[in-house]
Amino acid sequence: MMKAEDQQQWKRTFFSELPKVELHAHLNGSISCNTMKKLIAKKPGLKIHDQMTMIDKGKKRTLEELENVSRCFRLFISLLLALKNFNAFGLSLGPLHQHYQYYVHCFYYQVTKDVIKEFADDGVKYLELRSTPRRDNATGMTKKTYVESVLEGIKQSKQENLDIDVRYLISIDRRGGPSVAKETVKLAEEFLLSTKDTVIGLDLSGDPTAGQAKDFLEPLLEAKKAGLKLALHLSEIPNLKKETQVLLDLLPDRIGHGTFLNSSEEGSLDLVDFVRKHQIPLELCLTSNIKSRTVPSYDQHHFGFWYSIAHPSVICVWDLSYESIDYIFASDSTKSELKRKWNHLKPKVLHF
Ligand SMILES: [Zn+2]
Repeated sequence: MMKAEDQQQWKRTFFSELPKVELHAHLNGSISCNTMKKLIAKKPGLKIHDQMTMIDKGKKRTLEELENVSRCFRLFISLLLALKNFNAFGLSLGPLHQHYQYYVHCFYYQVTKDVIKEFADDGVKYLELRSTPRRDNATGMTKKTYVESVLEGIKQSKQENLDIDVRYLISIDRRGGPSVAKETVKLAEEFLLSTKDTVIGLDLSGDPTAGQAKDFLEPLLEAKKAGLKLALHLSEIPNLKKETQVLLDLLPDRIGHGTFLNSSEEGSLDLVDFVRKHQIPLELCLTSNIKSRTVPSYDQHHFGFWYSIAHPSVICVWDLSYESIDYIFASDSTKSELKRKWNHLKPKVLHF
């Protein structure tokens, strides 16, 4: 029999060698504890405690607490930018480039590159990153330059020949309301045309209690017409049946979480039937749901329900990982290319 530590090692190797598709990665939420610690260590004077900006292994937070973590993270970034502390990433800035916008650009593209590198190291072969464009008057960052910084990070990772195909879904944060959503759709349409298949879709996310689904219908419909794919967070908290149906009526290309779609709430069978009838794939994030306490334990996770009815679900063990390829937003040629890669790696992975 294998010793406990050998078993641990075997698991680690198997899961990192298993090729993976990652379709639900929020850029800021994917920054590793290592990157954050590296940043914080450079500025101990800021008195920012680790726990304010990250969730370490084995820790859990409620959605509300997570919101605070994310607020602290944004505050931390603003402080960091204001202090011009770019040495954190080992960037040496010549006098020619000493103006804010350039710093901000470097910061975000470097964070993007770090995140992509870590996903690639984990065996992710295809990644759809999502992030809300931010504006920051103090540093001169516009939503457009924010998107450009992320795209630059993606481009540089490609130039370094990392074995990972990365696409970008621009996020609409519900807290911004319909006017910001419209602005975001316009920006996404521009980048859909100019980036040739890197910006390929839109994500609707943020506090699920902020605003109403109907506020976002017009911009989301417009996005759909323009050819952007839609990945919508929905049914993340209970008792939002009407709200959920409004978003489902848009026939999104994928559903983020859908935690309470199949809950025992009266009539929610309609929602399940609708999602099944239209075969809308679900992006399921077990660790995220446990950490944010929207699901009490792994055995009670809604993945079990959807898997038992053979509904398209995106999660990572071999068959599921392979089938996830069918639900990515990139073109059929990318799908064939990924399937070829999976089949090539199969003998090696299944050997473990
Ligand atoms: Zn999410």
